[in-house]
Amino acid sequence: MITRVTEREQYAFGKLVHALRDKLPFPITPCSEVALFWDDSMNADNGVLGSYSLWHQDRILLTAEAQNVPDMVVPVLCHELRHHYQYHNNPALYILCAVPVVREYTIEKSADAVELAAESIMENGL
Ligand SMILES: [Zn+2]
Repeated sequence: MITRVTEREQYAFGKLVHALRDKLPFPITPCSEVALFWDDSMNADNGVLGSYSLWHQDRILLTAEAQNVPDMVVPVLCHELRHHYQYHNNPALYILCAVPVVREYTIEKSADAVELAAESIMENGL
């Protein structure tokens, strides 16, 4: 089941993402430009904690498991905001790179780097 995050959650995540955006190694879309949703089909067991899809270009899904764990949500959110940025910055290139295997060597590289940096910033304090 997919449910929209509350206004309060969207605001709180927006503030956190905004505070660390400038410290990330690659640009990401501001959180305010996307609609965030909790998805209870994504979890640590299936290894999917977030998703950005071209079918819904201004929507990001986050694992409902992390609903009360901002330290877990924000890095994943930054990863997906990097994909949003990549797509909106160069849609044709993004589509070319988004295929299986190729994506691991292209779009996932900077998205993973952004996620790691965000994780480290969240762990060590903003
Ligand atoms: Zn990714």
